[in-house]
Amino acid sequence: MNNKEMQQKKVFLRTFGCQMNSRDSEEITGMLFEKGYSLSDSPEDADVVLFNTCSVRKHAEDRAIGNIGALQRLKKKKPRLIIGVVGCMAKARKGELIKKLPHIDFICAPANMYEIPEIIERLIRNGKQPNDEIASSVAPLLPRNDNYRSAATDYVSATTSKRQTILAIDKENRPEIKNVAYHKKGISALVTIMEGCDNFCSYCIVPYVRGREVGRPSESIIDEIRALADQGYKEVTLLGQNVNSYKETAYSVERIAYSLSAVRCPLSAKSRNFINLLEAINKINGIERIRFLTSHPKDAGEDLFKAMRDLDKVCEHLHLPLQSGSDRLLKSMNRGYTASDYARKAELLRKYVPECAMTTDIIVGYPGETEEDFNATKKLMEEIEFNFAFIFKYSPRPPARASELKDDVQKKDKEERNRILLELQESISFKKEKEFIGKETEVLIENTCRKEERKVMGRNRQNLKVALVGKNDLIGKLKTVKINSIFGHTLVGGLTALMVLFGPAFFNEADARTPEPRPFQGKSGTEECFVLGDYENAAREAAKTLPLASAEKGKLYYISGTSLNKLGRYEPARENFKSLIENYPKSEYAPLAQLGIADSYYLNEDYRAAAEEYEKYITGYPKSEAAATAYFRLGKCAQKEGRWQSARNYYQKVKTEYPLSFEAQMASETLSEEILYFTVQVGSFGKKSNALKLCDELVKKGYDASILKTQSDGQETYRVRVGRSDARAEAEELAKRLQAEGLPVKILP
Ligand code: SAM
Ligand code: SF4
Repeated sequence: MNNKEMQQKKVFLRTFGCQMNSRDSEEITGMLFEKGYSLSDSPEDADVVLFNTCSVRKHAEDRAIGNIGALQRLKKKKPRLIIGVVGCMAKARKGELIKKLPHIDFICAPANMYEIPEIIERLIRNGKQPNDEIASSVAPLLPRNDNYRSAATDYVSATTSKRQTILAIDKENRPEIKNVAYHKKGISALVTIMEGCDNFCSYCIVPYVRGREVGRPSESIIDEIRALADQGYKEVTLLGQNVNSYKETAYSVERIAYSLSAVRCPLSAKSRNFINLLEAINKINGIERIRFLTSHPKDAGEDLFKAMRDLDKVCEHLHLPLQSGSDRLLKSMNRGYTASDYARKAELLRKYVPECAMTTDIIVGYPGETEEDFNATKKLMEEIEFNFAFIFKYSPRPPARASELKDDVQKKDKEERNRILLELQESISFKKEKEFIGKETEVLIENTCRKEERKVMGRNRQNLKVALVGKNDLIGKLKTVKINSIFGHTLVGGLTALMVLFGPAFFNEADARTPEPRPFQGKSGTEECFVLGDYENAAREAAKTLPLASAEKGKLYYISGTSLNKLGRYEPARENFKSLIENYPKSEYAPLAQLGIADSYYLNEDYRAAAEEYEKYITGYPKSEAAATAYFRLGKCAQKEGRWQSARNYYQKVKTEYPLSFEAQMASETLSEEILYFTVQVGSFGKKSNALKLCDELVKKGYDASILKTQSDGQETYRVRVGRSDARAEAEELAKRLQAEGLPVKILP
């Protein structure tokens, strides 16, 4: 098939998981563009749908499986649609995926990634019913292609009762890291420098799905970064599971031996290690900032900290996962350091690079974690004072070694420990962020604010988001910005920007995640109190100032109404918003006040009234920028009232009509959540084997059955469910058929 024919083909690519996966998706995109494909915004409009998946935590897998499952109907409608699952979950759960989701056409492991275009091409070539035909074609096709390293490539066609799925999962390690990524024009790029991991932390699946460490040749890395600089990129983030152990791996001459033996094969003594690589990148003209992820505490030491101090482009931010503060657990996790080793490293880093922000990963509820272990983690977090921390609840990830240990920390304890550490970290992060107030910080401007052209966003060297007043022409520039305040975790340079910057978004999901009132000592102005979340004082100050103020009364009403909403005083909030609309109908805050009225009903759980007010907003202010917010909220109201179809329509509207909005992203996620589908439950078992038996029987009969495991008070229940449909009538029909088979049915939204 030539490139012209391919041009007709569109690919929808959805990425789950970490930055390594985002970068892999850029490589997949690069390879597909090379072959003449284009990208599509939706699966409905695509010829090929690819899911690049993550396996690090169970939650990530469940989300991907839900999304892939939802495509079953589309596949029925469009049998020529090619569905591929690539990435970590493809490697980890291959058999299960084929069984659960027989509509998948191919499964491709991270190490086999470069084979994707070839597989797709063959599936397209094989015509109308790819799944029916591919089995016979797979075996003879591959050995003929020399470039394909067919000897090492073992394609398997896995057969289920009806369909066949191509498995490209044979490679353990990525043979090389190619310079094929497609970088959309931008300011900051991800650059993989190594793949895989040799550390085998007991809880972690990465070494099993991404294989052993393979370092990319430094020439290839440097070539890519030079090209990025030529395209106008200013910042690179070097990626690897453990960048500090980067060593370039021999290619060219030794490459074939290497790829067959799968042993890491470093070049001669001249080859580069991580510090040498940083030094080389630091010299590249045009690149202004260098970041890297992730460092391992056992390998990050004085030489790295000195390099961070001495190399001007290397940013003052180190992500150094701690995982636990308990020596006993660190040993069981196979991390190779103790809590005091870690604390000493943190101290040393701060000695060499005092401005350095430190962020970390923590796992709570690892097998056997006692209160004492947990308190050791908490104490260490209090001592070190990270700038930010990701807190993860442990989930077993077979075949990682810890999955053989009893997952014995109760769910409610995991949740409680998670909550305690999140709260602790929130207060530490806020304390650290406040230290920027009144100071100047260097910001690389990356984009405009999503709602307002006059506002731009960027990051400082410590990787904190910064918002400020400015125009598009600032994008790509380094600016020194004086910080006046904080909103959520965003530093703000210039208070005046704030009202419009964050106004319509005050009641969106992101805002709901920001910590509740943060009293701010030392300032008492209405706006200051408001932006810092001290709503009590903001409302009081606004009420005091309103009668005296000659200008900006609209803004004061708005602050007052929004603060009262935040405080749960909905009636007075509405009065403020109504006064604003009546007295200052031309004010830029009038539309926001209408949204405020709707929000007040929504927050008060009166979804019918809220929906009416959101409708008024849409009809009253047709050109308003916050239409996406209003439609999204209408979807929420419908969802809360159980009007699923209507909710789906609103979310779909947001997705298609406002594709670049933040709400479109949320709508997409909500649409993919199980809650928006109907499924039929046909059994609920305490024993997994019983659930499996029923599930197998149903799958054999051609039903789309799956098992959902739930846990309550340590008790596990395995529920067998069939089908996923977006219309109740369809689910009812299915339920009738299942009932006729003698099964106890229950329809669940
Ligand atoms: N290579 C990096 C490192 O060593 O930290 C990052 C690897 S991992 C993809 C990112 C984080 O996920 C880990 O730091 C760990 O905190 C978390 N993680 C990995 N496996 C987990 C599991 N089974 N349960 C919960 N969290 C897990
Ligand atoms: Fe997983 Fe440990 Fe490797 Fe990080 S260093 S990828 S946590 S095994």
